[in-house]
Amino acid sequence: MRTLQNYIGGRLVASKSGRSGPVFNPATGEQSLSVGLSSADETREAIQAAEQAFASWKAVTPLNRSRILFKFKDLLEQHRDELAALITHEHGKVFSDAQGELTRGLEVVEFACGIPHLQKGEHSSNVGRGVDSFSLMQPLGVCAGISPFNFPAMVPMWMFPIALACGNTFVMKPSEKVPSATLRLAELLSEAGLPDGVFNIVNGDKESVDVLLTDERVQAVSFVGSTPIAEYIYATASANGKRVQALGGAKNHMVVMPDADPNQVVNSLMGAAYGSAGERCMAISVAVCVGDDVADTLIEKLAAEIDGMRVGPGVGLEEEAHMGPLVSKEHAAKVKAYIDSGVEQGATLLVDGRKFICPDHENGYFVGPTLFDNVKPGMRIYDEEIFGPVLSVVRVNSYAEAVELINRHEYGNGTSIFTRDGDSARQFYEEIQVGMVGVNVPIPVPMAFHSFGGWKRSLFGPLHMHGPDGVRFNTRMKTVTTRWPTGLTAGTEFSMPTMK
Ligand code: NAD
Repeated sequence: MRTLQNYIGGRLVASKSGRSGPVFNPATGEQSLSVGLSSADETREAIQAAEQAFASWKAVTPLNRSRILFKFKDLLEQHRDELAALITHEHGKVFSDAQGELTRGLEVVEFACGIPHLQKGEHSSNVGRGVDSFSLMQPLGVCAGISPFNFPAMVPMWMFPIALACGNTFVMKPSEKVPSATLRLAELLSEAGLPDGVFNIVNGDKESVDVLLTDERVQAVSFVGSTPIAEYIYATASANGKRVQALGGAKNHMVVMPDADPNQVVNSLMGAAYGSAGERCMAISVAVCVGDDVADTLIEKLAAEIDGMRVGPGVGLEEEAHMGPLVSKEHAAKVKAYIDSGVEQGATLLVDGRKFICPDHENGYFVGPTLFDNVKPGMRIYDEEIFGPVLSVVRVNSYAEAVELINRHEYGNGTSIFTRDGDSARQFYEEIQVGMVGVNVPIPVPMAFHSFGGWKRSLFGPLHMHGPDGVRFNTRMKTVTTRWPTGLTAGTEFSMPTMK
């Protein structure tokens, strides 16, 4: 069985740790690869390579860094289907969804290509007589990224294109469940002309991550994954003097107002709840219906749509499936256990995905689309993130009750409201305690030139990913104040200097 390697100093390097993990094809349940789980020393080698490359990379002009990213963008387009196939093979999402993931990652590369403009800083002339002031946005040094299984290409591309464009070097630790697409990105960066050591990949688990969080050469850590780990990453890396952005889990609610068009709501909700088998941090997992009439109509229409869903492998069907398998056997079992708990805690199970078996793929990690009604706070299926194809309907009596419900939840990643009423919509996005809000948009993922991030326990750290926050996160500001001899005043001043 092939063992996937690390990418350090511009070349593939086999891990000698003696530890490895299996990589499965979730549609068949068969192991397709092993991935080396790097030791602490191997992780330090990657940091060393990045540190060595920093001095020359930061000296490359922003325009020339941007030109390499332009070439990388071209290569991503040329290799889009190859990368999408790697994602489908290891994650399980359907091929067109994997292509969509790549497009969203590529858009961050396109944004980063504008770095000569984005990294310009500010300038004020004559802040005092003959005195000018300006800011430099300088790179930090070695930055590290740690990514989750659900977006093997897009989430790493939320992180490294902007970090590299700003003049940093990078060590990436991909999810050990889906390592191949990320590794391919490293090879394409080299092909685009990125100097050796500027971008490195160390495959591994907690052992590698802990080195990235504590090694003094690492200046900044970007993390995306579950909330308990995000909290650990934030606390540990911050205590070690690094800047950190750690994005965590989610429980995204969609509010359905009585004036919303039921067909539009159902169309939007189906993709938002069941696309990628619910393994998206911006998936809608709770539909909050304002009024019983709204809930009854929605449920009837949803049940009919679910009945027509195609669930199957991500590739190989004549007509593509709407939804593929879950990422692992353990995760599929966990999702089924959540469904059990919903039944035990009194929710009404309307569509049960537990018994679904995919024809010709009996060993795949499939769970069918599942729908619950009468879900309430205090039930585990409401309180916790399931990360599977399970949609809960919660009934409330008023808009105010819907807002209170969402604001009380510990997560605050994304949310949306479906309504025709501009006043309700405006009030909603003003008062809701959630980082990304949609109005008649079910999954309000900000574009690359805006920033992505949740509130509350969905994000630890002040700065969001990509967009303007991404540039701020990856640069350190220095403010310079200058005066030349003709502007110098005679004599010594002992009182606090003020500009005159
Ligand atoms: P995870 O937290 O299990 O793993 C994420 C990364 O952390 C992996 O690279 C993993 O190797 C590493 N890791 C795991 N345990 C660790 C430990 N004890 N110490 C150090 N490192 C550790 O997450 P996952 O299951 O891969 O991804 C799913 C989660 O990611 C969901 O909760 C989802 O909501 C979240 N997610 C959030 C966003 C967002 O933008 N907020 C986006 C995508 C995914």
